[in-house]
This record gives sequence, structure tokens and C-alpha cells, in this order.
Amino acid sequence: MKKRPDHSRALSIIVPIYNEEDNIKPLYDELMQVCTSYDYEIIYVNDGSTDNSLALLNEIANQNPLCIVINLRRNSGQTAAMMAGFDHCCGDAIVLLDGDLQNDPADIPRLLEKLDEGFDLCSGWRQKRKDTWLTKKLPSMIANKVISKISGVKLKDYGCTLKAYKREVLADVQLYGEMHRFLPIYAGWQGAKTTEIAVNHRARIHGTSNYGLERIGKVILDLLVVTFLSGYSQKPIYLFGGFGLLNHFFALITFIVMIYFKFWGGKDFIATPLPLVATLFFLMGFISILLGLIAELLIRTYHESQNKPTYHVESKQNFNGGD
Ligand code: UDP
Ligand code: MG
Repeated sequence: MKKRPDHSRALSIIVPIYNEEDNIKPLYDELMQVCTSYDYEIIYVNDGSTDNSLALLNEIANQNPLCIVINLRRNSGQTAAMMAGFDHCCGDAIVLLDGDLQNDPADIPRLLEKLDEGFDLCSGWRQKRKDTWLTKKLPSMIANKVISKISGVKLKDYGCTLKAYKREVLADVQLYGEMHRFLPIYAGWQGAKTTEIAVNHRARIHGTSNYGLERIGKVILDLLVVTFLSGYSQKPIYLFGGFGLLNHFFALITFIVMIYFKFWGGKDFIATPLPLVATLFFLMGFISILLGLIAELLIRTYHESQNKPTYHVESKQNFNGGD
């Protein structure tokens, strides 16, 4: 989220839309039941729909100036659509929900209550999820367990789009790939207080899901990236260099065994694969350490070229040295 327009609002609702022509009108009606009690804006991000979605969204925007349509040039994926929404919204609280009616807008007030109670992020938990078991529920069950274990942010359902955020926790967040499910983890890094409440979930009636089993591979790889970033984004050399040193240690052991066999075991160097193994370990270690050094250069470029600090200040007192 880069800059904030000077007209601020209490609540921004962001809805990514990709080919949801039959869902747009009913969703708008449901949102109106809830939104009118807030100082709200709705940001629809049309993610390169090829059906009539954009025309319908524009129609809504013509009727209601509090509905904003951001139309992406081409389909860029749900995560990118969400980022476009963050970048254009100006609410103090931000709620995200799917545009396919699977999330229930009636849950929004309860999510916002949690923010009022002092939480920075309130995540929806699709306790009774209405999706297929094999392609959705099972992979998601496993992913939730693994993400919760690895990330240390304890949620039951990361994949539910319906979540409410305080604006501050999304500042500086940049998401790539399918990473929107890791938003609570990014927020956690910034020290956000997170909670979770059960929300209603409905089966998709109109249109089709945009994801199948191929999402599993992407989520595993994204999780790898998030784990790496969470543990080593400040000091990548500890991971690469650590792996490198471990390889050098194995090379040394192999080398000692090799020498032992040669002089005391009666086996010539060429009688065992040990010289090859020792060389492999040594080279792998060397390359790994070099990769670590390159990663260190990259991380410095990242922080210094964009003036990104390596810490997050929550508040300041008696500090008058500029902002
Ligand atoms: N979506 C999007 N761009 C895409 C794919 C999906 O904006 O490339 C939107 C879609 O319109 C919906 C939400 O993201 O509002 C969730 O998508 P979907 O229902 O297909 O995901 P599922 O519920 O099956 O996980
Ligand atoms: Mg859906």
C-alpha cells in the first residue's frame, strides 16, 4: 500500500472479481445490507474478466459513487487483484472477501468488532466449508496444519479470503504468486495481534472455481519462500553458508576416511568412490557459500535502495526529528 488518498474512510471492502457475472448483483445487494451502517467504500478489482463482469461493475459504480472499480488490463491472479485493492483503498479498516458469494457479507460486522476490541487482524474460519473434499478441503486441511506449525502464527484457516485488517498491518506488504493466504504471517512479522472467528461459508452456485489441484504445488513452494523469508530474510548467509559449512564438514569426514583406507585399510584412492564424494561435498559447500554471499548483496540492495528499514516502529514519544 503506497500512498493514501486524502479522503479517508472508516471501512474499505475489497472484492476481487474474475468472471463472476452472475454473482455481482446479488453480492452488491448483500453488501448494501451491511455497509450502510458504516462510512464505507467498496473497491471491486476486475481481474481481466472475459464475461460481462466489468459492465455490471461499472453499472453499480454509476449508481453508487462509493463503489470504485479498478479494472486490470489482464488476468493477474487473485493475489495481484487484492494488492491492487490495497493500493487504491483509503479505509482505516480493510475487509477482503471473495466475489463469488461463498463468503457471507453478514459476517463483516463481527470481524470489525474484533478490530475494535484491539486486534489488528481478524481472520475468518470456514468452520463448515462448502467445497469439494478432495480438491479443496483435504489439501487445505494439510496446508493449514503445516503453515501453522512452520510460521508460528496459529490459525485454523489461512485460505479464507474473508478477513479484516487494520490499515497499518498492511502497510509495506508486497505479495507475489498465491501468497494472499500468508497475509496473517506477514502481519505477524510486523507484530500484529491476530484472532480468528468462525464465519459462514456457502457453496458456489454461479460460475466455477478458478483453482484445482495444481494449487497445492504452488502453495507448498510459496510456503517454502515464506519460511525462508521469515527465518533468513535479514541474514541469508546463515542458511546458505550453514548448508555450505555442513557440506565442508562432510567433505572433511569423507577425506579422513579416504586417507584412513589408503594408509591403514589397504584400499587405494581409486578403489572407493570417496574421492568423488569428498570433491562433491567440497564443491557444493563452496557454491552454497558463494550463493549466500550473493543473497547478502541482494538483501542489502533491497533494504538500501528502497530505504526499507529492518525493523517496524509501532509508536514514538517525544521524538521530534521529522517523521
Ligand atoms: N479471482 C480473481 N482472479 C483470478 C482468480 C480468482 O480475482 O485469477 C477471484 C474470484 O473472482 C473470486 C476469488 O478470487 O472472487 C476466489 O476465487 P475462487 O472462488 O475461484 O477460489 P476458490 O473459492 O475456489 O478457492
Ligand atoms: Mg470460491
